[in-house]
Amino acid sequence: METRSEAPAEPAAKVVKSDEEWQNLLTAEQYHILRKAGTERPNGAVYKEFKQQGEGSYHCAGCGALLFSSREKFDSGCGWPSFYDPAKVENVLTRKDVALGMIRVEVICAKCEGHLGHVFEGEGFDTPTDKRYCINGGGLKFVPAKQDPTE
Ligand SMILES: [Zn+2]
Repeated sequence: METRSEAPAEPAAKVVKSDEEWQNLLTAEQYHILRKAGTERPNGAVYKEFKQQGEGSYHCAGCGALLFSSREKFDSGCGWPSFYDPAKVENVLTRKDVALGMIRVEVICAKCEGHLGHVFEGEGFDTPTDKRYCINGGGLKFVPAKQDPTE
């Protein structure tokens, strides 16, 4: 997962790029996840990083759109970054995914249609939504919240 000190600019419109442009723009891991609906290894380095991150926001590594924040983050123990709700609802879309012989709900970035992960409902987590947005950390950029200078 990339960490940036400044929040990336929010895309004003849909972000449409050719496959070649995405390959040039993204790291191999980001490309695999976002453009090829890849899934990172659970409990990997990205997840360890995620668990240690404090307050901040999570943006799409492809287009910079704000997707999730530390406010909706929770520890589901599943090995991937988990959120119970998006930080900016209009930037996070879901669609039915029937790959691998399962019916799942895919989570994608509304701005660039990059694959983020899947969302599962009704698992009984003690969160306000009972949803688990199971997200590949490799497709996200983390921007730590600004430290309050008066502290
Ligand atoms: Zn995006």
